[in-house]
Amino acid sequence: MTQITNRKPRILTGDTPTGRLHLGHWVGSIENRLAMQDQYECFFIIANAHAFTTRAENPEQIRESVLEIATDYLAAGIDPEKSTIFVQSEVPAIAELTFFFSMLVPYNRLMRNPTLKDEIRDKGLGDGYSFGFLLYPVGQIADILAFRPQLVPVGEDQLAHLELTREVARRFDQLYCGVDPQTPDADYVAAGGLFPVIEPKLGRVRRLVGTGGPGPHGQLLKMSKSLNNAIYLGDDADSIQKKVMGMYTDPNRKKATDPGTVENNPLWIFHETFNPDRQWVTETEDLYRRGLIGDVPCKKKLVEVLVTLIEPIRQRRVALQNDPGHVLKVLQDGTRRAREVADETLRLAKKCLRQDYL
Ligand code: ATP
Ligand code: MG
Repeated sequence: MTQITNRKPRILTGDTPTGRLHLGHWVGSIENRLAMQDQYECFFIIANAHAFTTRAENPEQIRESVLEIATDYLAAGIDPEKSTIFVQSEVPAIAELTFFFSMLVPYNRLMRNPTLKDEIRDKGLGDGYSFGFLLYPVGQIADILAFRPQLVPVGEDQLAHLELTREVARRFDQLYCGVDPQTPDADYVAAGGLFPVIEPKLGRVRRLVGTGGPGPHGQLLKMSKSLNNAIYLGDDADSIQKKVMGMYTDPNRKKATDPGTVENNPLWIFHETFNPDRQWVTETEDLYRRGLIGDVPCKKKLVEVLVTLIEPIRQRRVALQNDPGHVLKVLQDGTRRAREVADETLRLAKKCLRQDYL
């Protein structure tokens, strides 16, 4: 009954336009997207409505960030001929699905969501956050299920949201499509369900730390657009140098001859993640542990590594910035395509809900 029309399996993932893309996005999600764009039908959502959960007073900034993120996608190598890049708020079926899905999420279950709790803590939202902030995980369920994807490439912080998405898909299919609760997750669609029980796909680094050291509770914070601890895909060599030279390392090491700690040290986490010269990393970590090398040469090496990775992306970015009409056109074309798919899902969902009247 679900009329799966696509030939390739689908993926859906995306970003909130609260800034530009950084290295955390690169290893957490973008690398996977690039590797998958030939084998999968890809939908990449720019979740602009969700940016309003924390920045409702800055609509102009959100608009700018939508274009920045789209520019980042293209500069990073996402090909609009193969993949659909679209703007969330221009796909109204997502908002309609959010309403129906919100009835399938127990309120207390939502409030126990560890990702929400972490965000409230790390972004210092206190208890002044809006009702809409609590609604965004439900919106995210709709962002995903509107496209009925099999896989959702994300960073670790999103796993709690994806678990909620899986629960809602099962619940919907059981309640409204007559799927037996004993059905294995992978068989929900074959058993007559509208929504697949999606699978997360983590990147090679599940949660890249930021350059700024630990948060108020002692643990290293994830690199995040909102925490001022990110190295961006558009950063030039000078900014990369400044950020790396000033980055947090081992706070107990006062001079180069002190033994250093490699574990939980962002300098080494970054080398292990980005430096292709594995041998240099292992050997130099050993010198660092023994107090035979200072932070400065290790940081300089890291600057080199990161500039090599980022500079080609930055250059493509500059070229795209000189052609803003092209970026907007990519978004418009993608959003039209996304609308068709999400509208079809909504139509099928209403049929399952027995609310198809027109
Ligand atoms: P914000 O600070 O506004 O929440 P963010 O930097 O967390 O922004 P998002 O747009 O929330 O970025 O996340 C987009 C995607 O990138 C998600 O799949 C998320 O898991 C992944 N991601 C974000 N930061 C990291 C990170 N540091 N390491 C790995 N993956 C990440
Ligand atoms: Mg985030």
